[in-house]
Amino acid sequence: MSIPHALTIAGSDSGGGAGIQADLKTFSALGAYGMSVLTALTAQNTQGVSAVHPVPADFVAAQLDAVFADIRVDALKLGMLANAVIIHAVADGLRRYAPQYVVLDTVMIAKGGHPLLQADAVGAIRSALLPLASLITPNLPEAAALLGCAPADSEDAMRAQGRALLAAGAQAVLMKGGHLGGAESPDWLITPEGETRFSQLRVATRNTHGTGCTLSAALAALRPRHADWPATVAAARDYLHAALQAADRLAVGQGIGPVHH
Ligand code: PLP
Repeated sequence: MSIPHALTIAGSDSGGGAGIQADLKTFSALGAYGMSVLTALTAQNTQGVSAVHPVPADFVAAQLDAVFADIRVDALKLGMLANAVIIHAVADGLRRYAPQYVVLDTVMIAKGGHPLLQADAVGAIRSALLPLASLITPNLPEAAALLGCAPADSEDAMRAQGRALLAAGAQAVLMKGGHLGGAESPDWLITPEGETRFSQLRVATRNTHGTGCTLSAALAALRPRHADWPATVAAARDYLHAALQAADRLAVGQGIGPVHH
């Protein structure tokens, strides 16, 4: 096929490690043409987020309309969405333009603890976006927030919560098990067709800023060139694993540094 076109709808990280910046680097590294709809600006470095400035929802919609009016979109990812008004503007756009692959990274809180989504907007993600997502990629606290239960503390519990999120309307769920701790970082892909486990040994680096953004961007960039989600997840995890292994070649900032694309 021709070069895939990938769109990220997400927030900006001024430090360049996460958000839109990580997404566009990932798209380029994986041979996709990248586009971006900004939902929020963050003032941020490797030590944390110091301020968040959401984009007005009608301007989010204007960016979406401009892209879809002119440019083919093969796959898109949703990252930081900031608040419920923006979520509804994005959901309206997705219903109107019906892109083939929608990866929903259910971003809620930055590693440093700063909220990237208003607490009262979790319900809007669940009701307005889950049904429009081809794949959602929650970590364990995010899955628990979406389901209103305690975070999974075992792989069996991860699988059960993944099935509950399918029942809540997602077409496929990638439950990310990094928060379980341990030497491995197991992910479970739950689809109506079956359940697949992915695991690699954890990479020994403290530079893990932007891992979630990178994985969901890789999933969007790679899906048009792979037969199904299991093949796409395997390839996207390989990309993230290599980016983590290369992370210590960077010396960016004094905090949790970014992965290297
Ligand atoms: N900043 C922005 C704009 C993001 O979209 C995200 C994650 O999605 C983060 C920060 C958080 O990155 P991390 O938790 O890897 O530090």
